[in-house]
Amino acid sequence: MITVTFAGCGDAFGSGGRFQACIHLRPGAGQAPVLLDCGATSLTALRRSGLDPGEIGAVLVSHLHGDHFGGLPFLILDGQFARRTAPLLIAGPPGTQQRLTAAMECLFPGSAQVRRRFDVRVLELFPGATKDVADITVRAWEARHPSGAPALILRLTVGGTGGTVIAYTGDTAWTAAITRASHQADLLIAEAYHWDKPVPHHLRYADLVTHEITARRVILTHMSADMLARQPPAAYEAAHDGLVITV
Ligand SMILES: [Zn+2]
Ligand SMILES: [Zn+2]
Repeated sequence: MITVTFAGCGDAFGSGGRFQACIHLRPGAGQAPVLLDCGATSLTALRRSGLDPGEIGAVLVSHLHGDHFGGLPFLILDGQFARRTAPLLIAGPPGTQQRLTAAMECLFPGSAQVRRRFDVRVLELFPGATKDVADITVRAWEARHPSGAPALILRLTVGGTGGTVIAYTGDTAWTAAITRASHQADLLIAEAYHWDKPVPHHLRYADLVTHEITARRVILTHMSADMLARQPPAAYEAAHDGLVITV
């Protein structure tokens, strides 16, 4: 049983007053929580949801846009000031280490080079490959979303073969990889930036309902103001900041 808390489920621009992408997974007793994306507002989002940033063991990053990875410098510095000792693993697209170092140096000069009491290890996830990240098997597909590095669609298997499967689109235009990544998943967390308005590089509700999705449960996230103004779609659930579910 995994507890999923949507600490942040907004877009990049604060639509609906929502925090940027920050989805907190608590796999179960004895395992450190994992974040799916860490947007710039994530420390505030976690604390608002009553979650301790210091216990997060790993962060899985879908792509290198500020609303998905911009909270990492704050998370790392918070750990430093809170005298964290447990290691932190960050897994993201190729180029994550370089972009993280650049972000830290831009926001807090000197912060990337400081000696810390805890290890920050960066692991790169390649489209088409599978890697184990903190007891979670992570398979990645390439998304259609330019971000200076390949953006990823992720499929997480928690608890080994036959375990709980959570798929996450990140940001992407429709691609058949979404169908594959979410095949019979227990939960698909899907971007629904707009209802049916054609927008480049992003997923629409219309894309999801017109393609085959076999996931048992679908929760929509990363919604624009236009999407939030609609009645919630009947077929799927819509996330809100602070939503807690178990899968
Ligand atoms: Zn993006
Ligand atoms: Zn985004």
